[in-house]
Amino acid sequence: MTFVIAGGGLAAAKTAEALREQGYDGRLVLVGAEPHLPYERPPLSKDYLQGKSEREKIFVHDAAWYRTHHVELLQGTQVTGIDRAGHRLDLSGGERLGYDRLLLATGATPRRLPVPGADLDGVLYLRTVDDSERLRDTLATASRVAIVGAGWIGLEVAAAARAAGAQVSVLEAERQPLLRVLGPRIAAVFADLHREHDVDLRLGVQVSEITGEGGRASGVRLADGTHLPADAVIVGIGAAPNTGLAAEAGLKVDDGIVVDAGLRSSDPDIFAAGDVASAYHPLLGTHIRVEHWANALNQPAVAARSMLGQEAVYDRLPYFYTDQYDLGMEYTGLARPGHNDDVVVRGDLASRRFIAFWLDDGRVVAGMNVNIWDVTSQIQELIRSGRPVDRARLADFDTPLHEATL
Ligand SMILES: Cc1cc2nc3c(=O)[nH]c(=O)nc-3n(C[C@H](O)[C@H](O)[C@H](O)COP(=O)(O)OP(=O)(O)OC[C@H]3O[C@@H](n4cnc5c(N)ncnc54)[C@H](O)[C@@H]3O)c2cc1C
Repeated sequence: MTFVIAGGGLAAAKTAEALREQGYDGRLVLVGAEPHLPYERPPLSKDYLQGKSEREKIFVHDAAWYRTHHVELLQGTQVTGIDRAGHRLDLSGGERLGYDRLLLATGATPRRLPVPGADLDGVLYLRTVDDSERLRDTLATASRVAIVGAGWIGLEVAAAARAAGAQVSVLEAERQPLLRVLGPRIAAVFADLHREHDVDLRLGVQVSEITGEGGRASGVRLADGTHLPADAVIVGIGAAPNTGLAAEAGLKVDDGIVVDAGLRSSDPDIFAAGDVASAYHPLLGTHIRVEHWANALNQPAVAARSMLGQEAVYDRLPYFYTDQYDLGMEYTGLARPGHNDDVVVRGDLASRRFIAFWLDDGRVVAGMNVNIWDVTSQIQELIRSGRPVDRARLADFDTPLHEATL
């Protein structure tokens, strides 16, 4: 048997690990487009970007681990085609590689800014370790940076740029940062946080052009004509799943590669995990594609079981975290601002020590703890229980969370 994993990120490495742990002893090949060992991305916009942690710390495993576990690593190699009928892959070097089971863990790629000047030098994106190192070098000398997009990555980069001493403008089309994830009330916490750290946060603005001098970005022009000079422009406007390979092979794709709760695609020998997978979630009753570390960490155990022909279901709730300045937070569940705008807060938004709960029909669907720790599993129990909550008890710090239900 030959099992092949296409994609060299966290989901890929963890699937290799899970397959070996679950007793698969056949040939195992991991084909990754980047020239690096599989690594974790969260530090790339946090400690690693700020020069506070070592490169060795980002790798999922060291090179010896792959040798010891007989995982053949094809680094710097792309899977360029899938011949489903022949069970063969085309690789970028021109070779062909047979497979019995295939896992697609090809991740996502930052969306490009569709304006004139977006390909000038000094316009940076952040996805890879190379991007992070380039950005770190840039921040070491830049005095003014403009960040397009006030999502998680844009805001984390803003914090890193302020720590590096640069003047920072953040430009966001919505009227609050993170509006579509958090809704207006909680998003305002992040707007205040950045303004308190002297970030020039411009909301409800459209970038119409990156201006340049001598082929290098010199600033950003807004639709209203305002020009903001900048030594570097960092774009963080979201990522798109790398589904091209799957779509060309005729697999079902809808935003991500569509897989069932066992992470099986529309082809019984092909599976998908991590950022690229749009997986049916049994608790939520719908397909969701989650672009977060914990998903890429935990889906592989289920993908491996399914690849081995066993029954398995991925039903963990989405979870992610961020660190910005002295704010640390964890978010779990899935709220849809616009639908779930009923928010109960336990604690104090202004002091940035609180838990926010998003309710749907009186039941908790998501929770976010800010500078409060070790509550994620309790919040998840509340969500999983599906029981209506008493708002006053939910808001009261002295009531244990499990006593907040009716
Ligand atoms: C800067 C940054 C900070 C983040 N911070 C957080 C955070 O704080 N909290 C959090 O929860 N999440 C965070 N995330 C998200 C998290 O890192 C991702 O969810 C996670 O990396 C997804 O892992 P993955 O293995 O699915 O995909 P990826 O990590 O994207 O790996 C996919 C790999 O597949 C390779 N590949 C693509 N196509 C092919 C092909 N055809 N053949 C071979 N290889 C291919 C790619 O080059 C890439 O190396 C962050 C992401 C970034 C970029």
